[in-house]
Amino acid sequence: MTGDKKKKIIKTIKIDVDKCNGCRACEVICSAFHSAPKYSSNNPARARIRVIREPYEDIYVPVYAGDYAPAECAGRDKYTIDGKEYDECAFCKAACPSREEFKEPDSGLPLKCDMCEGEDEPLCVKWCIADALVLEEREEEVEEVEEQEELDIGLDALARKFGLQKVMASVARMSTSKKGENPK
Ligand code: SF4
Ligand code: SF4
Repeated sequence: MTGDKKKKIIKTIKIDVDKCNGCRACEVICSAFHSAPKYSSNNPARARIRVIREPYEDIYVPVYAGDYAPAECAGRDKYTIDGKEYDECAFCKAACPSREEFKEPDSGLPLKCDMCEGEDEPLCVKWCIADALVLEEREEEVEEVEEQEELDIGLDALARKFGLQKVMASVARMSTSKKGENPK
């Protein structure tokens, strides 16, 4: 299917693993920003970024929460870094049925990095004083219909996984907390 094209700013965060010192400030500020009301608490289990740590090898790898996957994947990758073998799912960005990462601890709803919507700059980038996280922006033309399809697919997957009522309750909660943040 094709539709009208529109310009869209694509934001990505470049990760320099060599600069990450494992301070976890990114996890703290992300979870605080997404608490309701904003900054009322912080719980890194709610963060949309997770720092994988291997203290003996002094390795820290920040991983961002990506899309929700409704089913476990069939093929997985194994990583060996400096002689240590990591779990097959360790660096995966997806919230999926086979693990607990990137799920809201209370509701189990999947978490996804939203680039700190509404902020000038992603807060994890701002708080990373080691410059391990750097924001990059580029302009791309996208089909308008693609965005709607993507949204429909995502909502359909969530409704099948968690039930429509739970998803609607969650959207209503998010909408209330956003109204509280931007009183007009
Ligand atoms: S704030 Fe930066 S240095 Fe600290 S853990 Fe996160 S990515 Fe690594
Ligand atoms: S960009 Fe914002 S939402 Fe995404 S991981 Fe960083 S702090 Fe969290």
